[in-house]
Amino acid sequence: MKVLVIGAGAIGACVALRLAEAGALVTVVSREEPLDTLSAHSFGWANAIDEKNTDYYNLSIEALAAQERLVADVAAPERWLFGQGNLHWGRDEASAAAQRAIADGYRELGYPVEEMTPEQVVRDLEPGLALENVTGPVYFYPRDVHVLGDVLLPAVLDKARAAGVEVRVGERIESLDAVRGDADVVVCCAGRGNAGLLPDLPLLPPGAPERLTRGLLVRTTPVSAPVTRIVHAPGLSIRPHTGRRLVLHCHDLDHALTESDDGEALARQVIARLPEVLPGATDAEVENVFVGVRPVPRDGMPIVGPVPGRDGVYVIATHSGLTLAPLLGEIAARELLGDPDPLAEPFRLTRFA
Ligand SMILES: Cc1cc2nc3c(=O)[nH]c(=O)nc-3n(C[C@H](O)[C@H](O)[C@H](O)COP(=O)(O)OP(=O)(O)OC[C@H]3O[C@@H](n4cnc5c(N)ncnc54)[C@H](O)[C@@H]3O)c2cc1C
Repeated sequence: MKVLVIGAGAIGACVALRLAEAGALVTVVSREEPLDTLSAHSFGWANAIDEKNTDYYNLSIEALAAQERLVADVAAPERWLFGQGNLHWGRDEASAAAQRAIADGYRELGYPVEEMTPEQVVRDLEPGLALENVTGPVYFYPRDVHVLGDVLLPAVLDKARAAGVEVRVGERIESLDAVRGDADVVVCCAGRGNAGLLPDLPLLPPGAPERLTRGLLVRTTPVSAPVTRIVHAPGLSIRPHTGRRLVLHCHDLDHALTESDDGEALARQVIARLPEVLPGATDAEVENVFVGVRPVPRDGMPIVGPVPGRDGVYVIATHSGLTLAPLLGEIAARELLGDPDPLAEPFRLTRFA
């Protein structure tokens, strides 16, 4: 079977690899260099997703297992998957109560959450954090992992090439009609670009009030005292990166991003929040600023499967793409070779009909 995969972000790379391993003849076409994609810059927190939707939770739990399978299958010179967990705490009574409710939700689902004192966290997990003024508990999610997209992508694409995949970078597909005849199946893994390929795809437009789609990701220069796991402090999320760098994200500042914003001014505000949380990182400077648009389906759930009315077209669009990519690669390969996957069944496009 000949397959054209549009997109070389995390989803396209994983789909291409798994399809080639299953025997398909695969070509990947990407407008951007893989290291310029949103996936390469993403925050990269991968976890079980409790959006009070059992199907989504089950998908994300299996996705954590698929992360391990991908690492086991792809020998890479550098690690991209880190199982150090994730820390969360609140600023005040109200946000501490919100954190408690989230933790209770995960516990009910059987997902491990530990409640720690700030002193325990500094002693046992992250000695560099400034938690003296934190009064409430710190929640530790030991099964959460983080993924370095810019390490994963070249490794997975190299392995895909070794399995026979042709990767063509710098080509923009203007319309599906123009390429539909080139393959038996076209798989749209174009992230936010899926909206241009499939204009009826129910994705939220950038700036939609329902959910934040635009996001700013700031990578720092190497710092003296980094963290080793994901940290969600009030107003600042931190993820360790290669060479003692950090990737920073401030959810509240994303609201200020406008369509033409290059993020440079906001990035200074992001990095200014770092010393209060991690005093040993006062030497951090901005190394890279990236404004990304999350591919967010209208109901917040992933879209996975054939496109009704478009013979031979399959689409994947999700805003939890770093979490789900390894699993969605496996699922797409199975499904396109004729074996529908029950995990993907709740996420078909037909639900919007
Ligand atoms: C601030 C922020 C934080 C995030 N944090 C997390 C997180 O912690 N965990 C998580 O799981 N997810 C997170 N996400 C979301 C995650 O980054 C995305 O879901 C994921 O990167 C999407 O991957 P993708 O492969 O679908 O798309 P992308 O990485 O965007 O790749 C799309 C590919 O399609 C190509 N393309 C597009 N249009 C065309 C075209 N017409 N022709 C040819 N090629 C085309 C592009 O060049 C690219 O190769 C975050 C996003 C943001 C913005």
